[in-house]
Amino acid sequence: MKILVLNCGSSSLKYQLFAMEEKEVLARGQAERIGMTDALFRHEAKGQKTFLYQNPLNNHYDAVHNLLTFLGDGNRAILAGMQEIGGVGHRVVHGGERFQTSVVVDPGIRKVLEDTKKLAPLHNPPNLMGIDVCTDLLPGVPQVAVFDTAFHQTMPPHAYTYAIPHRYYREDHVRRYGFHGISHRYVAGRTAEIIQQNPANLKIITCHLGAGSSLCAVAGGKSQDTSMGFTPLSGLVMGTRCGDIDPALVSFLVEKEQGSLPAVMEILNRASGVFGISGISSDFRDLESAAARGNELAILALQVYAYSVARGISSLIPAIGGLDVLVFTAGIGEHSSAMRRRICEFLSWLDIDLDEKKNLDSTVEGIISRPAKVQVFVVPTNEEKMIAQETWTVLQKQTLSNVLNEQEVTNA
Ligand code: ADP
Repeated sequence: MKILVLNCGSSSLKYQLFAMEEKEVLARGQAERIGMTDALFRHEAKGQKTFLYQNPLNNHYDAVHNLLTFLGDGNRAILAGMQEIGGVGHRVVHGGERFQTSVVVDPGIRKVLEDTKKLAPLHNPPNLMGIDVCTDLLPGVPQVAVFDTAFHQTMPPHAYTYAIPHRYYREDHVRRYGFHGISHRYVAGRTAEIIQQNPANLKIITCHLGAGSSLCAVAGGKSQDTSMGFTPLSGLVMGTRCGDIDPALVSFLVEKEQGSLPAVMEILNRASGVFGISGISSDFRDLESAAARGNELAILALQVYAYSVARGISSLIPAIGGLDVLVFTAGIGEHSSAMRRRICEFLSWLDIDLDEKKNLDSTVEGIISRPAKVQVFVVPTNEEKMIAQETWTVLQKQTLSNVLNEQEVTNA
């Protein structure tokens, strides 16, 4: 079966086309700056040169339409027709408490998904737009929603309950949800595979360190706690997001910004984190270069980030009653040996022995520590592969249950 995975952001579309039985990626790419006059498409298909296409894209409909044209039309086509696509898997950021696993989208589910928009007003609307566009352009092709929050739905109430009046939970579903669940799940599962141990016996903390950063404590293969909360603004210090701060700071800043709460939220989301501290960049490569030149604020920003991650890791250990494996993933986690070293230095009280040579050499998945109680790994994340696998599993289950239902009807 061929499965198309779509990740629709507010002005972007990322995609991959998988041949599931063959375990192959047939095409991948992304469209950026959708809605602007200088939108850019980058498309790669198996056995072909990367194709760059700069043309206005009015909206996601145009973007998906172009993508389907690349896949199925003309000399670039790698599909005989759209009927070859057996399913579409969508990344949906927020599934609320309703969605604990991935689901096939039907009109009823689509209606329920509409309700999740208020929990993630920046992320869910473009995700749902992707679903609507595919309903139009790929009629009859089953679609599956795979949620970033679903993996964390196994957290116990003491981990997800905020200490505010409980009626906000009852009435408005205010609680810790956690995000990056597709990545944490993939990375924890892959780590258990690499060390050939049953996930049921492992205590793992996965560190998804990218522009957005979060941690997850996994035991028995399930998320027990995570650093992000009701929104992806909380938890670790990030590229431009503040992470955990004293909530009273918000009212202080609102007063300072002449009463504008939206202005303060914008500052906390887009002008804080390592960018806010350094005033230089949210990109850790720029910060490392500035730090190497002796820029004190860049050095401070990198230290604050490393400490925030180490503090977060330490605070998650009670959730799983110990630690066997620490795993780094995503842009910074996979590529910055300097940041991994800084974080592990703050964790020297744990039985961790980073192998500096392996840490420096590591560009692919593998262990970067010497034998000690806690093993340290780098495992590149692959959210698209996880979404494709989920989509395939859900569709296979659906086919099986349809067959069983038909048999029941025939037997009746
Ligand atoms: P997202 O998917 O959240 O946009 P990524 O996981 O792609 O983020 O991570 C992007 C971040 O990774 C960039 O902000 C950059 O700072 C960091 N990064 C990528 N490569 C390196 C590197 N070689 N050294 C340090 N940081 C890196």
